[in-house]
Amino acid sequence: MRKKARLAPVIAVDGPAASGKGTIARALAKHFNLPHMDTGLLYRAVALNLWRWGGDPGNEFEALRACDDLGFVPDDPELRSEPVSKIASMISAYPAVRTALLERQQDFARQDGGAVLDGRDIGTVIAPGADVKLFITATAQVRAGRRLKELEKCGMAAHFEEVLADIRARDERDSGREVAPLKPAADAVLLDTSDLAPEQAIAEAVRLADERLARADR
Ligand code: C5P
Repeated sequence: MRKKARLAPVIAVDGPAASGKGTIARALAKHFNLPHMDTGLLYRAVALNLWRWGGDPGNEFEALRACDDLGFVPDDPELRSEPVSKIASMISAYPAVRTALLERQQDFARQDGGAVLDGRDIGTVIAPGADVKLFITATAQVRAGRRLKELEKCGMAAHFEEVLADIRARDERDSGREVAPLKPAADAVLLDTSDLAPEQAIAEAVRLADERLARADR
């Protein structure tokens, strides 16, 4: 019997802030030659829009208005600043905001050439049929240390305790919200990067993805 033609895979990479999911997702995209979408950037772009025009992150309608004209420069350092990170985590709890950003992400996941998407709800909501689902974790302490280094690299002053408190608050908001909370899909593979260097985490993610793809009946 002839084998079914192999379709380009869809890979979902979820996990909390600074778990290493972005680095891993980019590396997987390169390894499997797939387009990549960092979905956190969409929420950050909405947050930056809102912040720039002085909108209220506590108001769902104002946050929804900030979803219009979502042009953004991915390298803009302001997208990664602490105030924008905090606002992004607040406005991402609004169902109206999530709905406004849904189609863009699902279209990306459905394109013919396959895709890698990273975020919080890729394996559970955006691409529940993904061929590979990875859930990347690391302790809050380790993640705060990484985030601090990132901020320092961008020339932004910060203190470890503040960054840690911020990471914990974001974890709580992301995991505790009613719509699309941060949680591993039932069929996700967990990868804890706490004790792994970036190259080790990437190698392990590639191995896990290869294993899943070899097993999947596609
Ligand atoms: O991944 P990143 O930290 O850049 O995401 C910024 C914020 O956007 C997160 O704190 C989270 O609240 C939200 N987000 C989300 N769903 C996604 C991606 C990001 O709720 N798929």
